[in-house]
Amino acid sequence: MTTAIKKAGRHVSQSEGLIFEKSAPGKRGMELPALDVRPVEPAEALPEEYLRDEIAGFPEVSEIEIVRHFTRLSTWNYAIDLGMYPLGSCTMKYNPRVNEYVARLDGIATEHPYQPVELAQGCLRILKTLEKCLLEITGMDAATLQPAAGAQGELTGLLLIRAYLTSQGHPRKVVLIPDSAHGTNPATVTIAGYEVRNIKSDARGQIDVAQLKQIVNEDVAALMVTNPNTLGIFESNIAEVADVLHAAGAQLYMDGANMNALAGIARPASFGVDVMHLNLHKTFSTPHGGGGPGAGPVVVRKHLEPFLPVPVVVEKPDGTLVLDDQRPQSIGRVRAFFGNFGVLVRALAYTLAYGPRIRQATEDAVLNANYIRHGLEPYYELPYKLPSMHEVVFSDARQRKYGVTTMDIAKRLIDYGFHPYTTAFPLIVPGALMIEPTESESKEECDLFIDAMRAIAEEAATNPELVKTAPHSTRISRLDEVAAARKPILRWKPAESSEAAD
Ligand SMILES: *Cc1c(COP(=O)(O)O)cnc(C)c1O
Repeated sequence: MTTAIKKAGRHVSQSEGLIFEKSAPGKRGMELPALDVRPVEPAEALPEEYLRDEIAGFPEVSEIEIVRHFTRLSTWNYAIDLGMYPLGSCTMKYNPRVNEYVARLDGIATEHPYQPVELAQGCLRILKTLEKCLLEITGMDAATLQPAAGAQGELTGLLLIRAYLTSQGHPRKVVLIPDSAHGTNPATVTIAGYEVRNIKSDARGQIDVAQLKQIVNEDVAALMVTNPNTLGIFESNIAEVADVLHAAGAQLYMDGANMNALAGIARPASFGVDVMHLNLHKTFSTPHGGGGPGAGPVVVRKHLEPFLPVPVVVEKPDGTLVLDDQRPQSIGRVRAFFGNFGVLVRALAYTLAYGPRIRQATEDAVLNANYIRHGLEPYYELPYKLPSMHEVVFSDARQRKYGVTTMDIAKRLIDYGFHPYTTAFPLIVPGALMIEPTESESKEECDLFIDAMRAIAEEAATNPELVKTAPHSTRISRLDEVAAARKPILRWKPAESSEAAD
Protein backbone atom coordinates (compact mmCIF):
# COMPACT_ATOMS: atom_id res chain seq x y z
CA MET A 1 0.00 0.00 0.00
CA THR A 2 2.60 2.50 -1.01
CA THR A 3 1.06 5.04 -3.35
CA ALA A 4 -1.88 6.20 -1.25
CA ILE A 5 0.17 6.76 1.90
CA LYS A 6 3.22 8.34 0.32
CA LYS A 7 1.11 10.94 -1.39
CA ALA A 8 -0.36 12.36 1.79
CA GLY A 9 -2.99 14.97 1.17
CA ARG A 10 -4.11 13.34 -2.08
CA HIS A 11 -7.62 12.18 -2.85
CA VAL A 12 -7.89 8.41 -2.31
CA SER A 13 -9.61 7.91 -5.67
CA GLN A 14 -6.74 9.56 -7.50
CA SER A 15 -4.19 7.63 -5.44
CA GLU A 16 -5.69 4.17 -5.95
CA GLY A 17 -3.00 1.48 -6.05
CA LEU A 18 -2.93 -1.87 -7.80
CA ILE A 19 -5.50 -4.52 -6.95
CA PHE A 20 -2.61 -6.84 -6.03
CA GLU A 21 -1.59 -4.45 -3.24
CA LYS A 22 -4.97 -4.88 -1.56
CA SER A 23 -4.70 -8.63 -1.56
CA ALA A 24 -4.28 -10.70 1.60
CA PRO A 25 -4.66 -14.48 1.89
CA GLY A 26 -8.16 -15.58 2.78
CA LYS A 27 -10.06 -12.42 1.84
CA ARG A 28 -13.23 -13.40 -0.02
CA GLY A 29 -15.76 -11.65 -2.21
CA MET A 30 -18.59 -13.84 -0.92
CA GLU A 31 -19.31 -16.59 1.59
CA LEU A 32 -21.30 -19.64 0.50
CA PRO A 33 -23.00 -22.18 2.78
CA ALA A 34 -21.24 -25.52 3.14
CA LEU A 35 -22.06 -28.03 0.39
CA ASP A 36 -24.60 -30.72 1.18
CA VAL A 37 -23.60 -32.76 -1.90
CA ARG A 38 -20.30 -34.33 -2.91
CA PRO A 39 -18.01 -31.60 -4.32
CA VAL A 40 -16.90 -32.01 -7.95
CA GLU A 41 -13.14 -31.80 -8.12
CA PRO A 42 -11.80 -29.56 -10.95
CA ALA A 43 -10.03 -32.58 -12.46
CA GLU A 44 -13.39 -34.31 -12.90
CA ALA A 45 -14.90 -31.38 -14.76
CA LEU A 46 -12.06 -29.93 -16.83
CA PRO A 47 -9.55 -31.34 -19.33
CA GLU A 48 -6.06 -31.58 -17.87
CA GLU A 49 -4.54 -28.72 -19.89
CA TYR A 50 -6.90 -26.26 -18.18
CA LEU A 51 -5.90 -27.29 -14.65
CA ARG A 52 -3.50 -25.30 -12.48
CA ASP A 53 -2.48 -25.93 -8.88
CA GLU A 54 -2.50 -22.27 -8.08
CA ILE A 55 -2.69 -18.97 -9.91
CA ALA A 56 0.44 -17.03 -9.01
CA GLY A 57 -0.28 -13.57 -7.65
CA PHE A 58 -4.05 -13.88 -8.03
CA PRO A 59 -5.51 -11.11 -5.85
CA GLU A 60 -7.75 -12.03 -2.93
CA VAL A 61 -10.05 -9.14 -2.04
CA SER A 62 -13.47 -8.48 -0.56
CA GLU A 63 -16.50 -7.37 -2.59
CA ILE A 64 -16.38 -3.73 -1.52
CA GLU A 65 -12.67 -3.58 -2.27
CA ILE A 66 -13.14 -4.76 -5.82
CA VAL A 67 -16.15 -2.50 -6.39
CA ARG A 68 -14.24 0.50 -5.05
CA HIS A 69 -11.10 -0.38 -6.96
CA PHE A 70 -12.76 -0.27 -10.35
CA THR A 71 -15.05 2.62 -9.48
CA ARG A 72 -12.02 4.67 -8.41
CA LEU A 73 -10.14 3.72 -11.58
CA SER A 74 -13.13 4.88 -13.61
CA THR A 75 -12.75 8.38 -12.15
CA TRP A 76 -9.28 8.74 -13.63
CA ASN A 77 -10.86 9.07 -17.00
CA TYR A 78 -12.83 12.07 -18.04
CA ALA A 79 -16.27 11.36 -19.51
CA ILE A 80 -19.09 13.29 -21.10
CA ASP A 81 -21.21 12.06 -18.16
CA LEU A 82 -18.92 14.09 -15.87
CA GLY A 83 -18.74 17.34 -17.77
CA MET A 84 -18.11 19.31 -20.92
CA TYR A 85 -15.62 18.22 -23.59
CA PRO A 86 -14.87 21.53 -25.29
CA LEU A 87 -12.51 19.93 -27.84
CA GLY A 88 -12.68 22.08 -30.97
CA SER A 89 -13.11 20.23 -34.28
CA CYS A 90 -14.12 17.05 -32.41
CA THR A 91 -17.83 17.80 -31.75
CA MET A 92 -17.90 15.83 -28.51
CA LYS A 93 -21.65 15.95 -28.02
CA TYR A 94 -23.72 13.86 -25.66
CA ASN A 95 -24.81 10.50 -27.01
CA PRO A 96 -28.41 10.01 -25.82
CA ARG A 97 -28.96 6.73 -23.95
CA VAL A 98 -31.81 5.81 -26.28
CA ASN A 99 -29.26 5.39 -29.10
CA GLU A 100 -27.50 2.77 -27.01
CA TYR A 101 -30.78 1.04 -26.28
CA VAL A 102 -31.66 0.85 -29.97
CA ALA A 103 -28.22 -0.44 -30.99
CA ARG A 104 -28.55 -3.28 -28.47
CA LEU A 105 -32.00 -4.48 -29.58
CA ASP A 106 -32.28 -8.14 -30.51
CA GLY A 107 -32.22 -8.49 -34.27
CA ILE A 108 -29.82 -5.54 -34.52
CA ALA A 109 -27.01 -6.40 -32.11
CA THR A 110 -27.23 -10.13 -32.83
CA GLU A 111 -27.57 -9.99 -36.63
CA HIS A 112 -24.79 -11.77 -38.54
CA PRO A 113 -23.16 -9.98 -41.47
CA TYR A 114 -23.33 -13.17 -43.56
CA GLN A 115 -27.09 -13.47 -43.05
CA PRO A 116 -28.77 -13.96 -46.48
CA VAL A 117 -30.28 -10.70 -47.73
CA GLU A 118 -33.81 -12.13 -47.61
CA LEU A 119 -33.38 -12.47 -43.84
CA ALA A 120 -31.56 -9.16 -43.37
CA GLN A 121 -34.18 -6.82 -44.84
CA GLY A 122 -34.60 -4.94 -41.55
CA CYS A 123 -30.91 -4.16 -41.22
CA LEU A 124 -30.64 -3.21 -44.89
CA ARG A 125 -33.63 -0.91 -44.35
CA ILE A 126 -31.73 0.77 -41.50
CA LEU A 127 -28.82 1.40 -43.89
CA LYS A 128 -31.06 2.67 -46.69
CA THR A 129 -32.98 4.97 -44.34
CA LEU A 130 -29.76 6.41 -42.93
CA GLU A 131 -28.48 7.01 -46.47
CA LYS A 132 -31.70 8.87 -47.31
CA CYS A 133 -31.41 11.04 -44.17
CA LEU A 134 -27.80 11.94 -44.94
CA LEU A 135 -28.69 12.78 -48.54
CA GLU A 136 -31.57 14.96 -47.34
CA ILE A 137 -29.25 16.81 -44.92
CA THR A 138 -26.44 17.33 -47.45
CA GLY A 139 -28.49 17.67 -50.64
CA MET A 140 -26.27 15.11 -52.38
CA ASP A 141 -27.38 12.26 -54.70
CA ALA A 142 -25.82 9.00 -53.49
CA ALA A 143 -23.99 7.61 -50.47
CA THR A 144 -21.72 4.90 -49.15
CA LEU A 145 -21.76 4.03 -45.46
CA GLN A 146 -18.67 1.82 -45.54
CA PRO A 147 -15.82 4.08 -44.36
CA ALA A 148 -15.03 3.55 -40.68
CA ALA A 149 -13.78 7.07 -39.88
CA GLY A 150 -13.54 10.58 -41.24
CA ALA A 151 -10.04 9.98 -42.55
CA GLN A 152 -11.14 6.83 -44.37
CA GLY A 153 -14.07 8.79 -45.80
CA GLU A 154 -11.57 11.34 -47.13
CA LEU A 155 -9.55 8.59 -48.80
CA THR A 156 -12.70 7.05 -50.28
CA GLY A 157 -13.78 10.46 -51.57
CA LEU A 158 -10.44 11.17 -53.21
CA LEU A 159 -10.36 7.71 -54.79
CA LEU A 160 -13.82 8.48 -56.25
CA ILE A 161 -12.46 11.73 -57.67
CA ARG A 162 -9.44 9.89 -59.07
CA ALA A 163 -11.66 7.23 -60.68
CA TYR A 164 -13.97 9.88 -62.15
CA LEU A 165 -11.16 12.03 -63.56
CA THR A 166 -9.46 8.93 -64.95
CA SER A 167 -12.70 8.06 -66.75
CA GLN A 168 -12.61 11.59 -68.19
CA GLY A 169 -9.14 10.94 -69.60
CA HIS A 170 -6.63 11.82 -66.86
CA PRO A 171 -6.51 11.58 -63.04
CA ARG A 172 -4.50 14.85 -62.78
CA LYS A 173 -1.77 15.44 -60.21
CA VAL A 174 -2.45 17.98 -57.49
CA VAL A 175 -4.96 18.51 -54.68
CA LEU A 176 -5.17 21.98 -53.14
CA ILE A 177 -5.53 22.35 -49.38
CA PRO A 178 -5.98 25.56 -47.38
CA ASP A 179 -3.37 26.17 -44.67
CA SER A 180 -6.06 25.88 -41.98
CA ALA A 181 -6.81 22.24 -42.90
CA HIS A 182 -6.98 19.28 -40.51
CA GLY A 183 -3.85 17.10 -40.59
CA THR A 184 -5.73 14.14 -42.07
CA ASN A 185 -6.36 16.08 -45.31
CA PRO A 186 -2.75 16.24 -46.59
CA ALA A 187 -2.16 12.67 -45.38
CA THR A 188 -5.16 11.48 -47.40
CA VAL A 189 -4.03 13.34 -50.50
CA THR A 190 -0.63 11.69 -50.34
CA ILE A 191 -2.04 8.18 -49.83
CA ALA A 192 -4.43 8.73 -52.76
CA GLY A 193 -1.38 9.34 -54.97
CA TYR A 194 -1.75 13.09 -55.33
CA GLU A 195 0.59 15.95 -54.53
CA VAL A 196 -0.44 18.46 -51.85
CA ARG A 197 -0.35 22.14 -52.71
CA ASN A 198 -1.12 24.55 -49.88
CA ILE A 199 -3.15 27.67 -50.43
CA LYS A 200 -2.95 30.51 -47.95
CA SER A 201 -5.90 31.93 -46.06
CA ASP A 202 -6.53 35.65 -46.43
CA ALA A 203 -6.30 38.09 -43.50
CA ARG A 204 -9.89 37.35 -42.50
CA GLY A 205 -9.28 33.59 -42.32
CA GLN A 206 -10.93 32.52 -45.57
CA ILE A 207 -9.82 31.06 -48.90
CA ASP A 208 -8.23 33.73 -51.06
CA VAL A 209 -10.24 33.40 -54.29
CA ALA A 210 -7.90 35.62 -56.32
CA GLN A 211 -4.99 33.36 -55.39
CA LEU A 212 -7.07 30.27 -56.15
CA LYS A 213 -7.80 31.57 -59.66
CA GLN A 214 -4.09 31.92 -60.33
CA ILE A 215 -3.23 28.45 -59.10
CA VAL A 216 -5.97 26.32 -60.66
CA ASN A 217 -4.94 24.64 -63.90
CA GLU A 218 -5.44 21.28 -65.62
CA ASP A 219 -3.09 19.56 -63.15
CA VAL A 220 -5.44 20.29 -60.25
CA ALA A 221 -7.75 17.38 -59.43
CA ALA A 222 -9.59 18.96 -56.51
CA LEU A 223 -9.68 21.40 -53.65
CA MET A 224 -10.25 19.86 -50.22
CA VAL A 225 -11.92 22.30 -47.89
CA THR A 226 -13.52 22.17 -44.48
CA ASN A 227 -16.57 24.37 -44.22
CA PRO A 228 -17.02 26.05 -41.84
CA ASN A 229 -13.24 25.99 -41.74
CA THR A 230 -11.16 25.06 -38.72
CA LEU A 231 -11.29 28.67 -37.48
CA GLY A 232 -15.03 28.11 -37.10
CA ILE A 233 -15.63 30.57 -39.94
CA PHE A 234 -17.99 29.90 -42.84
CA GLU A 235 -16.26 30.17 -46.22
CA SER A 236 -18.59 32.82 -47.63
CA ASN A 237 -17.02 32.59 -51.11
CA ILE A 238 -17.57 28.85 -51.33
CA ALA A 239 -19.95 29.01 -54.34
CA GLU A 240 -17.43 31.09 -56.29
CA VAL A 241 -14.65 28.70 -55.23
CA ALA A 242 -16.72 25.82 -56.65
CA ASP A 243 -17.26 27.71 -59.93
CA VAL A 244 -13.53 28.41 -60.32
CA LEU A 245 -12.74 24.71 -59.81
CA HIS A 246 -15.49 23.39 -62.05
CA ALA A 247 -14.54 25.77 -64.86
CA ALA A 248 -11.09 24.15 -64.79
CA GLY A 249 -12.51 20.61 -64.69
CA ALA A 250 -11.54 20.11 -61.02
CA GLN A 251 -13.69 18.82 -58.17
CA LEU A 252 -14.66 20.31 -54.81
CA TYR A 253 -14.18 17.96 -51.85
CA MET A 254 -15.69 19.05 -48.55
CA ASP A 255 -14.40 17.72 -45.26
CA GLY A 256 -17.75 17.52 -43.48
CA ALA A 257 -16.39 17.14 -39.93
CA ASN A 258 -17.91 20.54 -39.12
CA MET A 259 -21.40 19.66 -40.32
CA ASN A 260 -22.66 20.46 -36.82
CA ALA A 261 -22.72 24.07 -37.97
CA LEU A 262 -24.80 23.34 -41.08
CA ALA A 263 -27.16 20.39 -40.55
CA GLY A 264 -30.73 21.50 -41.20
CA ILE A 265 -29.60 24.97 -42.36
CA ALA A 266 -27.33 24.73 -45.41
CA ARG A 267 -26.81 21.87 -47.86
CA PRO A 268 -23.30 21.52 -49.26
CA ALA A 269 -24.70 20.40 -52.64
CA SER A 270 -26.27 23.87 -52.95
CA PHE A 271 -22.87 25.57 -52.78
CA GLY A 272 -21.18 23.35 -55.34
CA VAL A 273 -19.65 20.48 -53.35
CA ASP A 274 -19.09 17.33 -55.47
CA VAL A 275 -18.19 14.89 -52.71
CA MET A 276 -17.90 15.04 -48.93
CA HIS A 277 -17.65 12.83 -45.89
CA LEU A 278 -19.60 13.08 -42.65
CA ASN A 279 -18.34 12.11 -39.22
CA LEU A 280 -21.26 10.27 -37.65
CA HIS A 281 -19.21 10.08 -34.45
CA LYS A 282 -19.20 13.87 -34.35
CA THR A 283 -22.29 15.46 -35.89
CA PHE A 284 -24.59 12.49 -35.39
CA SER A 285 -23.83 11.91 -31.72
CA THR A 286 -22.30 8.46 -31.69
CA PRO A 287 -19.64 8.07 -29.00
CA HIS A 288 -16.01 8.63 -29.91
CA GLY A 289 -12.57 8.96 -28.47
CA GLY A 290 -9.98 6.47 -27.37
CA GLY A 291 -9.77 4.92 -30.81
CA GLY A 292 -13.25 3.40 -30.66
CA PRO A 293 -15.34 2.71 -33.75
CA GLY A 294 -16.52 5.61 -35.86
CA ALA A 295 -18.21 6.05 -39.22
CA GLY A 296 -17.26 8.35 -42.08
CA PRO A 297 -19.95 7.94 -44.77
CA VAL A 298 -19.28 9.61 -48.11
CA VAL A 299 -21.99 11.38 -50.10
CA VAL A 300 -21.57 12.36 -53.75
CA ARG A 301 -23.20 14.13 -56.67
CA LYS A 302 -24.63 12.06 -59.53
CA HIS A 303 -21.50 12.03 -61.72
CA LEU A 304 -19.52 10.21 -59.00
CA GLU A 305 -22.17 7.60 -58.18
CA PRO A 306 -20.93 4.88 -60.61
CA PHE A 307 -17.62 4.78 -58.74
CA LEU A 308 -19.01 4.18 -55.22
CA PRO A 309 -17.69 1.19 -53.25
CA VAL A 310 -19.51 -2.12 -53.70
CA PRO A 311 -21.89 -3.48 -52.64
CA VAL A 312 -24.50 -0.73 -52.92
CA VAL A 313 -27.85 -1.27 -51.19
CA VAL A 314 -30.48 -0.95 -53.95
CA GLU A 315 -34.25 -0.79 -53.52
CA LYS A 316 -36.25 -2.79 -56.07
CA PRO A 317 -39.64 -1.50 -57.31
CA ASP A 318 -41.44 -3.92 -54.96
CA GLY A 319 -39.59 -2.47 -51.97
CA THR A 320 -37.14 -5.35 -51.39
CA LEU A 321 -33.56 -4.38 -50.75
CA VAL A 322 -30.70 -6.11 -52.55
CA LEU A 323 -26.93 -5.78 -52.59
CA ASP A 324 -25.59 -4.70 -55.98
CA ASP A 325 -21.95 -5.57 -56.57
CA GLN A 326 -22.11 -5.60 -60.38
CA ARG A 327 -20.75 -2.10 -60.84
CA PRO A 328 -17.83 -2.18 -63.26
CA GLN A 329 -16.61 1.35 -62.50
CA SER A 330 -16.63 0.90 -58.70
CA ILE A 331 -13.43 1.62 -56.74
CA GLY A 332 -14.16 -1.66 -54.89
CA ARG A 333 -14.71 -2.27 -51.24
CA VAL A 334 -13.18 0.05 -48.66
CA ARG A 335 -14.22 -1.94 -45.62
CA ALA A 336 -15.55 -5.40 -44.75
CA PHE A 337 -19.32 -5.96 -44.62
CA PHE A 338 -21.44 -2.84 -44.12
CA GLY A 339 -19.21 -0.47 -42.15
CA ASN A 340 -19.46 -0.08 -38.37
CA PHE A 341 -23.09 -1.12 -38.23
CA GLY A 342 -23.69 -0.32 -34.54
CA VAL A 343 -22.47 3.24 -35.10
CA LEU A 344 -24.76 3.60 -38.11
CA VAL A 345 -27.74 2.44 -36.02
CA ARG A 346 -26.99 4.99 -33.29
CA ALA A 347 -26.66 7.78 -35.86
CA LEU A 348 -30.02 6.86 -37.41
CA ALA A 349 -31.70 6.79 -33.97
CA TYR A 350 -30.33 10.27 -33.31
CA THR A 351 -31.33 11.65 -36.71
CA LEU A 352 -34.86 10.27 -36.65
CA ALA A 353 -35.40 11.49 -33.07
CA TYR A 354 -34.81 15.05 -34.32
CA GLY A 355 -36.23 14.88 -37.85
CA PRO A 356 -36.29 18.37 -39.34
CA ARG A 357 -35.73 19.80 -35.84
CA ILE A 358 -32.05 18.94 -36.30
CA ARG A 359 -31.87 22.58 -37.34
CA GLN A 360 -32.49 23.50 -33.69
CA ALA A 361 -29.50 21.42 -32.57
CA THR A 362 -27.33 23.25 -35.11
CA GLU A 363 -28.59 26.67 -34.02
CA ASP A 364 -27.98 25.83 -30.37
CA ALA A 365 -24.44 24.64 -31.16
CA VAL A 366 -23.71 27.96 -32.89
CA LEU A 367 -25.38 29.93 -30.08
CA ASN A 368 -23.31 28.15 -27.41
CA ALA A 369 -20.02 28.80 -29.24
CA ASN A 370 -20.89 32.48 -29.60
CA TYR A 371 -21.99 32.72 -25.96
CA ILE A 372 -18.57 31.40 -24.91
CA ARG A 373 -16.83 33.68 -27.41
CA HIS A 374 -18.62 36.65 -25.92
CA GLY A 375 -17.80 35.57 -22.35
CA LEU A 376 -14.10 35.03 -23.05
CA GLU A 377 -13.28 37.79 -25.53
CA PRO A 378 -12.31 40.27 -22.76
CA TYR A 379 -9.76 37.73 -21.42
CA TYR A 380 -8.30 35.94 -24.45
CA GLU A 381 -7.01 37.16 -27.83
CA LEU A 382 -9.35 36.49 -30.76
CA PRO A 383 -7.14 36.58 -33.88
CA TYR A 384 -9.87 36.17 -36.53
CA LYS A 385 -12.96 38.26 -35.97
CA LEU A 386 -15.49 37.05 -38.57
CA PRO A 387 -18.67 35.59 -37.01
CA SER A 388 -18.12 32.21 -35.33
CA MET A 389 -20.16 29.21 -36.29
CA HIS A 390 -20.10 26.18 -33.95
CA GLU A 391 -16.60 26.75 -32.57
CA VAL A 392 -14.30 29.62 -31.71
CA VAL A 393 -10.52 29.89 -31.86
CA PHE A 394 -8.63 32.14 -29.42
CA SER A 395 -4.86 32.45 -29.02
CA ASP A 396 -2.64 32.60 -25.93
CA ALA A 397 -1.02 35.90 -27.05
CA ARG A 398 -2.06 37.78 -23.87
CA GLN A 399 -1.04 34.99 -21.47
CA ARG A 400 2.33 34.51 -23.18
CA LYS A 401 3.45 37.78 -21.63
CA TYR A 402 3.51 35.86 -18.34
CA GLY A 403 5.15 32.79 -19.89
CA VAL A 404 1.84 30.88 -19.92
CA THR A 405 0.94 28.93 -23.07
CA THR A 406 -2.22 27.36 -24.42
CA MET A 407 -0.95 23.98 -23.19
CA ASP A 408 -0.60 25.33 -19.63
CA ILE A 409 -4.12 26.77 -19.71
CA ALA A 410 -5.50 23.49 -21.05
CA LYS A 411 -3.77 21.54 -18.25
CA ARG A 412 -5.06 23.95 -15.62
CA LEU A 413 -8.59 23.48 -16.97
CA ILE A 414 -8.36 19.86 -15.79
CA ASP A 415 -8.13 21.13 -12.19
CA TYR A 416 -11.44 22.90 -12.69
CA GLY A 417 -13.07 19.63 -13.79
CA PHE A 418 -13.19 20.22 -17.54
CA HIS A 419 -11.64 18.28 -20.34
CA PRO A 420 -9.10 20.50 -22.13
CA TYR A 421 -10.05 22.26 -25.35
CA THR A 422 -8.05 21.55 -28.55
CA THR A 423 -4.54 23.04 -28.42
CA ALA A 424 -2.12 23.95 -31.18
CA PHE A 425 -4.60 23.57 -34.04
CA PRO A 426 -5.36 25.12 -36.51
CA LEU A 427 -1.73 25.73 -37.45
CA ILE A 428 -2.38 29.25 -38.73
CA VAL A 429 -3.08 30.39 -35.16
CA PRO A 430 0.09 30.23 -33.03
CA GLY A 431 -0.87 29.09 -29.52
CA ALA A 432 -4.45 28.24 -30.47
CA LEU A 433 -7.27 27.59 -27.99
CA MET A 434 -9.95 25.90 -30.10
CA ILE A 435 -13.25 25.63 -28.26
CA GLU A 436 -16.43 23.82 -29.31
CA PRO A 437 -19.13 23.35 -26.67
CA THR A 438 -21.76 21.66 -28.93
CA GLU A 439 -25.50 22.00 -28.37
CA SER A 440 -25.41 19.45 -25.55
CA GLU A 441 -24.40 22.08 -23.00
CA SER A 442 -26.88 24.20 -21.08
CA LYS A 443 -26.33 27.87 -20.35
CA GLU A 444 -25.43 26.88 -16.78
CA GLU A 445 -22.65 24.54 -17.95
CA CYS A 446 -21.35 27.12 -20.43
CA ASP A 447 -21.24 29.63 -17.54
CA LEU A 448 -19.19 27.19 -15.43
CA PHE A 449 -16.74 26.83 -18.29
CA ILE A 450 -16.49 30.58 -18.83
CA ASP A 451 -15.90 31.09 -15.08
CA ALA A 452 -13.10 28.52 -15.10
CA MET A 453 -11.44 30.08 -18.15
CA ARG A 454 -11.68 33.57 -16.61
CA ALA A 455 -10.20 32.31 -13.34
CA ILE A 456 -7.29 30.78 -15.27
CA ALA A 457 -6.70 34.04 -17.17
CA GLU A 458 -6.42 35.79 -13.80
CA GLU A 459 -4.12 33.12 -12.41
CA ALA A 460 -1.91 33.44 -15.48
CA ALA A 461 -1.41 37.13 -14.64
CA THR A 462 -1.06 36.84 -10.86
CA ASN A 463 0.39 33.36 -10.26
CA PRO A 464 1.76 32.00 -13.55
CA GLU A 465 3.71 29.19 -11.81
CA LEU A 466 0.42 27.68 -10.64
CA VAL A 467 -0.80 27.43 -14.23
CA LYS A 468 2.53 26.33 -15.67
CA THR A 469 2.75 23.36 -13.28
CA ALA A 470 -0.90 22.26 -13.57
CA PRO A 471 -2.72 19.95 -13.25
CA HIS A 472 -2.52 19.66 -9.48
CA SER A 473 -5.61 17.58 -8.73
CA THR A 474 -4.85 14.53 -10.82
CA ARG A 475 -2.99 11.31 -10.13
CA ILE A 476 -0.02 12.42 -12.20
CA SER A 477 0.77 16.00 -13.04
CA ARG A 478 2.75 16.94 -16.17
CA LEU A 479 3.67 13.92 -18.18
CA ASP A 480 6.61 13.78 -20.49
CA GLU A 481 4.15 13.24 -23.32
CA VAL A 482 6.76 12.05 -25.81
CA ALA A 483 8.17 9.46 -23.38
CA ALA A 484 4.65 8.36 -22.42
CA ALA A 485 3.85 7.71 -26.07
CA ARG A 486 7.20 6.20 -27.06
CA LYS A 487 8.00 4.16 -23.93
CA PRO A 488 4.71 3.35 -22.23
CA ILE A 489 4.86 1.14 -19.15
CA LEU A 490 1.96 -1.21 -19.67
CA ARG A 491 2.82 -4.25 -17.59
CA TRP A 492 2.75 -4.61 -13.82
CA LYS A 493 6.03 -5.96 -12.51
CA PRO A 494 5.75 -7.36 -8.96
CA ALA A 495 9.38 -6.57 -8.10
CA GLU A 496 9.18 -2.88 -8.98
CA SER A 497 5.71 -2.50 -7.50
CA SER A 498 3.98 0.84 -7.92
CA GLU A 499 7.11 2.93 -8.44
CA ALA A 500 7.17 1.97 -12.11
CA ALA A 501 3.55 2.95 -12.59
CA ASP A 502 4.31 6.49 -11.43
C1 LIG B 1 -12.09 14.78 -36.90
C2 LIG B 1 -11.71 15.40 -38.18
C3 LIG B 1 -11.20 14.63 -39.25
C4 LIG B 1 -10.86 13.16 -39.14
O1 LIG B 1 -11.91 12.35 -38.73
P1 LIG B 1 -11.60 10.93 -38.04
O2 LIG B 1 -12.93 10.31 -37.88
O3 LIG B 1 -10.92 11.24 -36.76
O4 LIG B 1 -10.72 10.16 -38.97
C5 LIG B 1 -10.95 15.28 -40.44
N1 LIG B 1 -11.14 16.60 -40.59
C6 LIG B 1 -11.60 17.38 -39.57
C7 LIG B 1 -11.81 18.85 -39.81
C8 LIG B 1 -11.90 16.81 -38.33
O5 LIG B 1 -12.34 17.58 -37.33
